[in-house]
Amino acid sequence: MATAREARLATVEYRADQVFDRIGRFLAQHRLSPDPLHYAFAYRVISQPAGVLAQSVAALTEGGIRLTARDIEKLGGQVATGATPDIPDATDAVEGLVAQTQMHVEGFTDMMHAIRTETQDFGRDLAASANAMRASDSAGDIVRLTGVMLDRVQSAETRLAAATHEAEELRLKLEEARSNARCDPLTDLPNRRAFEESFAKHMQAGDAVCLAVCDVDRFKRVNDRFGHSVGDRVLKAIAEALTTACPGHMVARYGGEEFTVLFVGTTLDDAYATLERARDVVADKRYRLRESDEPLGAVTFSAGITEAKPGEFLGSVFGRADKLLYTAKDNGRNQIRRL
Ligand code: GH3
Ligand code: MG
Ligand code: MG
Repeated sequence: MATAREARLATVEYRADQVFDRIGRFLAQHRLSPDPLHYAFAYRVISQPAGVLAQSVAALTEGGIRLTARDIEKLGGQVATGATPDIPDATDAVEGLVAQTQMHVEGFTDMMHAIRTETQDFGRDLAASANAMRASDSAGDIVRLTGVMLDRVQSAETRLAAATHEAEELRLKLEEARSNARCDPLTDLPNRRAFEESFAKHMQAGDAVCLAVCDVDRFKRVNDRFGHSVGDRVLKAIAEALTTACPGHMVARYGGEEFTVLFVGTTLDDAYATLERARDVVADKRYRLRESDEPLGAVTFSAGITEAKPGEFLGSVFGRADKLLYTAKDNGRNQIRRL
């Protein structure tokens, strides 16, 4: 029997301009450059929404997961390996807004501080003048007037203090939102966005960079046998093990059961050796079900690791590491290939 999604997809037919729009959105969503190869793949997905390919893509991307180069190749598509500049997506726009708002809030906070200091000084001066007049007992009206003004200044000061406090809280919330946008909630690792930014920053600085793509072996079986929540716990444990085994290097959850490691200022040999130790640590762990102590069996990962050439784009470096990962999988898994 057709699933609800299949039924829904089967009834969809798009006009030519809709196809065009959808292809554009598809490329942006999966961070694919507008290369004819990517366009052809997207066209096949979009133009036959009820087809096998569209359904496979829908299954792979359920929950907002982006397609990887390997997914596309598995599905019979081709990935452009040349320069693949990132296409700004909706989150970039949000990022821009957050940065702008933060700048405004920071400006507002500075202004509040300045005004507060000024009114405090003014208040102090007024208080001193009022005391002097009271002592001379010669200008009753002026003393009363000054007292009223003093009250007003004090009340303004209280309101300014409250506004400053609110602005500061808003700034902290924005900072938190910014860091959440770069953090994977399941594993607490930097996410794909944070990884891509870090890669770009180090490449721009001319640092020596090695990139590893690690993919958990036969992970679907863990989910199928023990359930998705156990699968989630295994992913957390692997994230921790990888982070501990690669100190000083950025371990990120790139998506699904794929992790990436960014080695900076390290030779390929050293990066490979570190990742080999991480692979050993993960493979030697004996995971057990928390509830029943039942063993899960060994959980391993395979990886491809490569050195970025000066000025090379992420798409190209990642594509190479991903191909190496493919080879590691084909050769029996639980191993790392390098180039
Ligand atoms: P291979 O060795 O070829 O990589 O086999 P595999 O089973 O790991 O690969 P496949 O791509 O067929 O399946 C990956 C699975 O990872 C399917 C998907 O349900 C699961 N997965 C992806 N993200 C998550 C997640 O956040 N939590 C859990 N529990 N499973 C996830
Ligand atoms: Mg995978
Ligand atoms: Mg896998």
